[in-house]
Amino acid sequence: MSLYILLGFLLLAVIYSSHVDASQVKFGPLCSGNRKRGCDTKYGCGNYGASRGSRKHMGLDIVCADGATVYAPFDVKLNGKAAPYIKNNAINDGINLSGEGLCFKLFYVKPDRYTGTLKKGQKIGSLLPMQSVYPGITSHVHVQMCDKSDPTKYF
Ligand SMILES: [Zn+2]
Repeated sequence: MSLYILLGFLLLAVIYSSHVDASQVKFGPLCSGNRKRGCDTKYGCGNYGASRGSRKHMGLDIVCADGATVYAPFDVKLNGKAAPYIKNNAINDGINLSGEGLCFKLFYVKPDRYTGTLKKGQKIGSLLPMQSVYPGITSHVHVQMCDKSDPTKYF
């Protein structure tokens, strides 16, 4: 009888830990580590929910230099282009990704390809020339969840 109780607890523990794991996904290095962008005097702050005039910043900015290599933060599937702007400019490119049970977009990145899969640490592409569009900004990758929820807990 006590064996069944023990097995019951083990089963609950397994169910509980697998449930918790989904929210404990952590992004591996996207660029040179995962340093969060602070605030620029002209362009606002990089945190989720930061003010953008009448709108809100719906992603998290990770510091990355223009032209720097952007890496897969974990094993990912490439799900096509994700362009941030309606009106085209020099940094209007990005990629839709999925992996670890998450669906997210990276903006301002020129991906080497838009389909296929990558292992953690493999090159996704390069950061586009953000300084040419926003001179003086802290250049960065914009990370946005597909459901526009806050990605900060994954960093
Ligand atoms: Zn952003």
